Amino acid sequence: MAKRGFQGAVLRAFGAHDHIATVTSTQLITPHYLRVWLHSETLFDAVEACPTAWLRFWMPDPADPEVEHQRAYTIALAEPAAGDFAVDFVLHEPAGPGSAWAQQAEPGDAVSLTSIGSSRFEVSDEPPAGYLVIGDAASIPAIRTIVATVPSEIPIELYLQLHDEADRDIPLGEHPALRVHWVPAAAPEEMAQAIEARDWSGWYAWVAPESVVLRHVRARLKKEFGFGKQSQYLQAYWVRGREMGRRR
Ligand SMILES: Cc1cc2nc3c(=O)[nH]c(=O)nc-3n(C[C@H](O)[C@H](O)[C@H](O)COP(=O)(O)OP(=O)(O)OC[C@H]3O[C@@H](n4cnc5c(N)ncnc54)[C@H](O)[C@@H]3O)c2cc1C
Repeated sequence: MAKRGFQGAVLRAFGAHDHIATVTSTQLITPHYLRVWLHSETLFDAVEACPTAWLRFWMPDPADPEVEHQRAYTIALAEPAAGDFAVDFVLHEPAGPGSAWAQQAEPGDAVSLTSIGSSRFEVSDEPPAGYLVIGDAASIPAIRTIVATVPSEIPIELYLQLHDEADRDIPLGEHPALRVHWVPAAAPEEMAQAIEARDWSGWYAWVAPESVVLRHVRARLKKEFGFGKQSQYLQAYWVRGREMGRRR
């Protein structure tokens, strides 16, 4: 039995329960981006594969199989009736339990998931003038679901941090009013500086980059462009130099 900490107890108290998913296949999309297809008998009884939905995976510690690390990953593709879904993993260095698990995943491998606290991207009845979307390879699976959901007449300005030249080959989906801007990742403030200085009033910002990048973007969105709480979703998807997630 794996060690279960306070976080696990709290999730259980809120009614979360684990699902088991089994790897069915893997597909390398770029040298550092791996799609893993999984099957679960129970997941889609409890989870809706809505835009930007994500799961809490419990990844085994590479050095101690008694310990599991919680890591968030997005449902990239789903075939709920069949119980099948895909997750796209960034294979980064240094690796962590999440990326290491994906790198070694083989058909038949089982992993535990908790389904609580996910997010849902929805276009409201009175849609914004446009969507300013900011992220990187880790949030591209979620961004792809946004691109697929935004009505075709609403513009999307998408800013992506380029951590690896091959990131450009990760599919983003198609949208007639999508403009993509790749931003070098040399310094964390570069993303905030890259955002076009223009009138963004009436726009909605969906922002999910690395945490220090997020801090700079948040400040510029607020101070210079006037984005408020109702017109933005901000979430750090990873933290440079630190692990992101609890253990049990
Ligand atoms: C809601 C949500 C949804 C997410 N969906 C996805 C998804 O679909 N696919 C995906 O790949 N990630 C996704 N992420 C990000 C993912 O949870 C983090 O990248 C996580 O840190 C990976 O865990 P790990 O065990 O591989 O590395 P950790 O143990 O957390 O970190 C180890 C080292 O790797 C570095 N690192 C972590 N992530 C990255 C990265 N992306 N690029 C470069 N270095 C990194 C850290 O800075 C640290 O030095 C999501 C995050 C959130 C919050």
